[in-house]
Amino acid sequence: MAYFCKDCSYRGMKSGQLGECPACGSHNLTSRAMTFQEQPAPTKWRLVILVALWGFLIALIIGKIVH
Ligand SMILES: [Zn+2]
Repeated sequence: MAYFCKDCSYRGMKSGQLGECPACGSHNLTSRAMTFQEQPAPTKWRLVILVALWGFLIALIIGKIVH
């Protein structure tokens, strides 16, 4: 199980003996198994929108240069 610290953004396979962050000692550790459900990951659509936005921006810039 992987761990993620919300305080210092430590990521690793180990936590402290009492479940604390090995990097900063915070108890704000979350395990990757718990956070996995929070990300349904519609990354395909996000990528399409990102590419479309960049295409629009580049077309706008090229339009300004040409005129
Ligand atoms: Zn930490």
